[in-house]
Amino acid sequence: MKKSLLIVSTCVLFACGSGENIELVDIGSDTKSSVTLERASKSKAKNVILFIGDGMGPNQVTLAKFATGGPDHRLSFENFPITGIVYNHSAESLYTDSAASATTWATGIKTINGYLAVDAEKTFLPTIPELLSTKGYKSGLVATSSITHATPAAFYAHIDNRYKEKEIAKMLVDSDIDIALGGGAEFFNLGKSEDGPYMIYDNEQLDSNLLSTKEQVIGLFAEDGFDRRLGPPTQLEMTQVALSFLEEKSKNCTGFFLMSEGSQIDWAGHDNNVEYMLAEFTDFNATVQAATNFAIENEDTLILVTADHATGGLVLQRPKGSKIPAQWTTGSHDLSPINIYAYGPGAELFSGVMDNTEIFDRILQALDYKNLDSTNCSS
Ligand SMILES: [Zn+2]
Repeated sequence: MKKSLLIVSTCVLFACGSGENIELVDIGSDTKSSVTLERASKSKAKNVILFIGDGMGPNQVTLAKFATGGPDHRLSFENFPITGIVYNHSAESLYTDSAASATTWATGIKTINGYLAVDAEKTFLPTIPELLSTKGYKSGLVATSSITHATPAAFYAHIDNRYKEKEIAKMLVDSDIDIALGGGAEFFNLGKSEDGPYMIYDNEQLDSNLLSTKEQVIGLFAEDGFDRRLGPPTQLEMTQVALSFLEEKSKNCTGFFLMSEGSQIDWAGHDNNVEYMLAEFTDFNATVQAATNFAIENEDTLILVTADHATGGLVLQRPKGSKIPAQWTTGSHDLSPINIYAYGPGAELFSGVMDNTEIFDRILQALDYKNLDSTNCSS
């Protein structure tokens, strides 16, 4: 078990897929009809939920759609009324890693691969949760990797090396993040502290009623990334608890920001493993659907679904009977642009072709950040 996790994380660092694999994937039969989601009547969002499918390029989305129900099937976010195309080069290269890409959504600035919320000169960059906390916002992060991994870390850590996860863990404890759920227990100093965040470590503690009485929560359900065979919570379970925590805590505040990542779609791409990729994607898709149901009930919530980059150079070839030959052409990230899907107030801002830095700008625009009054959330 430990060994397979080790292989996965080694692949993340060194791109270990052979890049020659062709896997035959069955076309699925779940053709349930799509739901029409209308454009929002309001233009200003109160809450933002940002979903990241790490490594989820357009062909990962297409393969998941075909494997689930064929060409007429709609994935949860394919029902969203607005879509755009996002280019994602880093400050130094056309090739981006997760750290540089996540830094663009978190701060609006491009940086060097491996850097988190500092610019190419290592200057501190304020992140969306930090900016919003001054306006009375609550923020949360969910990931199926360690919560100190590049994507979630870009929202609270300021450091020029994504692999210094023990330092990053300290930054999370001291950050403005109100709830953070994922893996990475091995990076935290687990000594008891009276005034630190409330720490939880097992599925039973992932309970909305229990957590609603706490100010700041960090949930660590694995030593590092999640090994699903060991039964950590799903992305769906963590995101639902984070959503209800943030909804409750932001009642007397301006609103909330939540980032939820399907981290291992990327790891499956590095590993050139379709079955692994589709399993991770299934949890991701269900999580987006649950959040969409929340946004249908709470019309002031903007939902965005995007990726940091595509992984694996996935090519979908001419079908053989009812099977799709899916070929991985690299064990690394590739340069294809990725999609963004938007639903809720402000969604129109995410239409067209954009650079990944513009996602940050457009989120603040959707919230009308400049004109938000500062509040301290007290009732
Ligand atoms: Zn990767």
